[in-house]
Amino acid sequence: MEFAVSAPYAVPVLVILGHTSCGAVTGTVKGLKKNPKDPSLPAEMNDFAQEIAPIARKVPVEGTEAEHINAVVRANTVAVAQGLVKRSAIIRKAVDEGTTKVVAAVYNLETGAIDWEVAA
Ligand SMILES: [Zn+2]
Repeated sequence: MEFAVSAPYAVPVLVILGHTSCGAVTGTVKGLKKNPKDPSLPAEMNDFAQEIAPIARKVPVEGTEAEHINAVVRANTVAVAQGLVKRSAIIRKAVDEGTTKVVAAVYNLETGAIDWEVAA
């Protein structure tokens, strides 16, 4: 992504696209229900779970399980977009200089619609 925001490419927008019904988020939410301190999931799923768990813990448990999972998807997508700008000096510079925007959005697997109203 650092190449993408640098000359000669300098892409104007990086889209962090989450998606509804995400398996990694679903696994993490279910893992946290079993053990709120550690959602430990099998094998490489555990890497995702450890990244998603701190975000999932901040999302209020509301609505149906699917609604809750999609609220975590949304929060996680925002966190990934914000983390990208925070962690990468090159991307941060491109954002500060206004040559690149980092945008969070969520793809709805059921309807095919993309929700662009996700603040990064
Ligand atoms: Zn997913």
